[in-house]
Amino acid sequence: MIIFKKEADIQEYLNTQRAAGTRIGFTPTMGALHEGHISLVHKNKADGSLSVCSIFLNPTQFNDKNDLVKYPVSTEKDIELLLDAGCDVLFLPDVNEVYPGGEEKMPTYDFGYLETVLEGATRPGHFRGVGQVVARLLSIVAPDKVYLGSKDYQQCMVIKELVRKLGLPVQVEICPTVREADGLAMSSRNRRLTEPQRAVAGIIYQCLVSIQAKQDDGTFAVVKRECSELLTAKGFQPDYVALANADDLTLLDEYRPGAHMVALIAASIGGIRLIDNLVL
Ligand code: AMP
Repeated sequence: MIIFKKEADIQEYLNTQRAAGTRIGFTPTMGALHEGHISLVHKNKADGSLSVCSIFLNPTQFNDKNDLVKYPVSTEKDIELLLDAGCDVLFLPDVNEVYPGGEEKMPTYDFGYLETVLEGATRPGHFRGVGQVVARLLSIVAPDKVYLGSKDYQQCMVIKELVRKLGLPVQVEICPTVREADGLAMSSRNRRLTEPQRAVAGIIYQCLVSIQAKQDDGTFAVVKRECSELLTAKGFQPDYVALANADDLTLLDEYRPGAHMVALIAASIGGIRLIDNLVL
């Protein structure tokens, strides 16, 4: 695996690869890697293209600066995991490389409705930051395909919209959520959970499964209340327990038989905010 820290260096290398006819896949991450991230690298490898991964803890997507300060960092371990996965290239830039001249100088993009619901509503400015960094990273790496995890469902929609807006020739591949044995979606933030918090954290996935199971003969308003109560009883503060149209994220008050729907939950425990979703 070759590690690049500078835009000019990675671009020079990737240009040579491209000129030789090599296809390039790209997995952007914020580090503190786990099997979820690695599954994206594996998919990239299985597709037979050069696998490029980036680790950059992007300050502009953290509306809560405390969350940024507490975000786990484990670069040495991350490099080992990427080596084991057979990753070809790691881009490890610092903030001045990503935002030369300061982040205010770099363009941001408007995602309209997506910025106003769910993660957009509870984390103002978050998707502006995501759009800003992904646009910048895509301009540096210029991949043929970008690999994203469906764990961040709304983020996938934002990035698809970004690619469309910018007219980039990039395919967006959405990969399944990798889970722990109890169903908890793998997340860098899980590392911050204490043992008792970790022991109850599988409840988020159980709630999603119950929302899915009751779609044929249940009332979403009732299931939603039950889930909120259950999460609260386990020590979580739910931000939302929601049902939405899976294609455009329009919120639904009730199940729509036969419709393409997604259930989404965001909840915090001890100040650690976890999100998950399940397409019904
Ligand atoms: P992050 O480092 O949290 O910004 O995540 C980088 C990429 O990994 C994003 O596309 C995430 O959606 C994806 N990802 C995070 N957790 C998982 C998971 N449990 N399963 C699959 N992909 C994931």
